[in-house]
Amino acid sequence: METIRRTKVVDLLKRTDVGAQVNVKGWVRTRRGSKQVNFVAINDGSTINNVQVVVDVEKFDADLLKLITTGACLSVNGTLVASVGSGQAVEIQATEIEVLGACDNTYPLQKKGHSMEFLREIAHLRPRTNTFGAVLRIRHNMAIAIHKFFHEKGFFYFHAPIITASDCEGAGQMFQVTTMNLYDLKKDENGSIIYDDDFFGKQASLTVSGQLEGELAATALGAIYTFGPTFRAENSNTPRHLAEFWMIEPEVAFADLHELMDLEEEFIKYCVQWALDNCRDDLAFLNKMVDPGLIERLQGVVNTEFVRLPYTEGIKILEEAVANGHKFEFPVYWGCDLASEHERFLVEEHFRKPVIMIDYPKEIKAFYMKQNEDGKTVQGTDVLFPQIGEIIGGSVREESYDKLMARIKELNIPMKDMWWYLDTRKYGTCPHAGFGLGFERLLLFVTGMTNIRDVIPFPRTPRNAEF
Ligand code: ATP
Ligand code: MN
Repeated sequence: METIRRTKVVDLLKRTDVGAQVNVKGWVRTRRGSKQVNFVAINDGSTINNVQVVVDVEKFDADLLKLITTGACLSVNGTLVASVGSGQAVEIQATEIEVLGACDNTYPLQKKGHSMEFLREIAHLRPRTNTFGAVLRIRHNMAIAIHKFFHEKGFFYFHAPIITASDCEGAGQMFQVTTMNLYDLKKDENGSIIYDDDFFGKQASLTVSGQLEGELAATALGAIYTFGPTFRAENSNTPRHLAEFWMIEPEVAFADLHELMDLEEEFIKYCVQWALDNCRDDLAFLNKMVDPGLIERLQGVVNTEFVRLPYTEGIKILEEAVANGHKFEFPVYWGCDLASEHERFLVEEHFRKPVIMIDYPKEIKAFYMKQNEDGKTVQGTDVLFPQIGEIIGGSVREESYDKLMARIKELNIPMKDMWWYLDTRKYGTCPHAGFGLGFERLLLFVTGMTNIRDVIPFPRTPRNAEF
């Protein structure tokens, strides 16, 4: 076969130099046609769009043509020609075809329209579907948007460790990291495991958040963000929780509550606008096939001002709704941790736009949040989104050593492994604030997918770590 430099489909479809000799490589999506002429749709992943290859049957060997089946990988040389029927401006009139990889009829993606559940069982192949190709390209674009946003604002990308010996939020949800022989654990007289001989000489886990290390960095570099894998062993089988997910955690020195909320809002809007500008074809596909309200919802978020709502007012609204006959599964009262049905009621039915809820009761929030003067609430911010519920959890951090220690004692938090964190408050402490955004929650919103397992290549959930 003649060597012609490969053109990606995304670039090929933009070309206008009809008559040029071109080469494409990719996987067969469909093949149709008559005894005389076949139309083969090829996709190479560079775009959701296929290029149509026109095959004059009599010019090719019958044995070769037999191998052009759904899923097969081809290299095609041909002439770029204007297209009449393919839905694209150009197509390829094939001159030479090589089958790089044949694909028999056991290939599970024969016909279109598989359920999401079925596709999860073949997660190793689902990136070859239109939907998952679109999701994965958008996932990439969102990662780029995140780095661009922070870089342009002068934030430094900071790498927090993945293995940690401290627990940010309270034990019980962490995956342990050990090289000990689990069949032969050394225990002391109380039956507690002795970690002295373990790899790190103490109990270690996978991180549930890079925030504490992020705070160290922010109080040195001024403004940083982390963006990395995060692990939670919570046994909650919901459409919004993964055991392994990616989190973005900016942390900013000298920021107060209002600057924090501004950053949260600006950041999400930037990412959504980036998707609208850079993922048009993929969004158009998802809008058509998965979620007809998608693009309108994305534009809505970019063009709307988020509501900023104190928790206490939020509870009043929910209590009024209950008084007016609205039924919630979980009770509403001042002090309750809002369930996702409550959050969604506020966002989807009451305000009909994103809500940043602030000033939560301290009992339902983490120890490090800045305490308000009232003695009851803390400067936490949850950003609540339509369809998703909580997309961001953030707060102003308590910068006073004494207040922080008092709270730690109140909650009985074991601090022996956290001396380094307290040092930030001891040596030149400063006001600072930050938040955590679940990357996959953002992707749920941007893609219109409804299950978090479908916006990450290989989901890790309870009883599932296949692939
Ligand atoms: P939720 O109440 O939804 O369980 P959380 O309050 O435990 O979340 P935070 O500890 O505030 O979450 O984490 C910050 C962000 O990380 C959340 O706003 C969410 O976007 C994301 N997140 C938290 N847990 C998960 C998870 N298990 N899977 C995916 N994303 C998550
Ligand atoms: Mn939270």
